[in-house]
Amino acid sequence: MPFLEKRNEPIENDTRASRGIGTESAAHWTHDVYVPGSASRDAARRSPQRNTTKQSCGNPECTKSWTMPWKNRRRPIFEGRWGCSTRCLEAVIHRALRRERGDLRPVGSEDQDVPHQHRIPLGLVMLSQGWISQTQLRTALEAQRLAGTGRIGEWLVQESGVTSAQITRGLATQWSCPVLPIDGFAPSAMALTMPRLFIERLGLLPLRIASSRILYLAFNDRLDASAALAVEQMSGLRVESGLLDDSHYEQARQRLLGSEFIQTNEESFQDAEGLSSRIATILEASQPLGSRLVRLHKHYWLRTWLETGAYGDVGTLPSTGEDVTDTLFTLGRQD
Ligand SMILES: [Zn+2]
Repeated sequence: MPFLEKRNEPIENDTRASRGIGTESAAHWTHDVYVPGSASRDAARRSPQRNTTKQSCGNPECTKSWTMPWKNRRRPIFEGRWGCSTRCLEAVIHRALRRERGDLRPVGSEDQDVPHQHRIPLGLVMLSQGWISQTQLRTALEAQRLAGTGRIGEWLVQESGVTSAQITRGLATQWSCPVLPIDGFAPSAMALTMPRLFIERLGLLPLRIASSRILYLAFNDRLDASAALAVEQMSGLRVESGLLDDSHYEQARQRLLGSEFIQTNEESFQDAEGLSSRIATILEASQPLGSRLVRLHKHYWLRTWLETGAYGDVGTLPSTGEDVTDTLFTLGRQD
């Protein structure tokens, strides 16, 4: 069956490598050039200098001209790179940390964490679409003003007889995103996509995977582009964000929170040097076949894949909670 065979083609490895996550033998990096597994094995057979195809130190500033030949170069791997020493591993991690902090972003590039200030107010969106009347909007605004609290959507439902489904539709128009259907929601698989904390405290709600390459990520009343990007980088999948109706959202959230998550540790550090060295220590102790660091707001999320079996069939998502560990770090003073 050619359709099934396709899944085993190098696309999967390519995805992993382009996300900077190493696999044991199918692929590796030589400096910055990705060499697909089959090609490198062929090259190794043909080449008189076999050891040139071995993983070389991933630290561009490495000054060592040789490494003990018996040293395992398959582990630990951080973002597709191997460090010849603790010092080199730390240097590679430190660079990733700077990238995630935004220190390496080109000048003038948009900061993902700045919230959008210029969205058309929900009431006006709904009015211009003809979904509510002037009177309904006026009533809700007046109620909101008197109460001095609550979102306009809530007041439209409470005071003006608008349904929550209409509000969700209005929010989706405001955010230019779809209202996602709840069909196909797979809580146990989705619980493996990210730490529980992101669902509990940041309101992310991974819904389902389509065509083995798109992860649908739902939110309740506003999108979070920065979070979507982080999940995209960690999962190796394209993330499509959308909104869920209130009742669907609550229902799905409860089911998801009732599922089993990947073991997650939380740690806090004063400075980036301390954090880099801590990550190096974790990697040297656990010797993962792959690991990656992404930032999601104040959280630096390190995921480690300890064995080949830790990878599932979709992106870099694990198929079970075994042999995968998440660590969430925060940096600096946290209030
Ligand atoms: Zn080195």
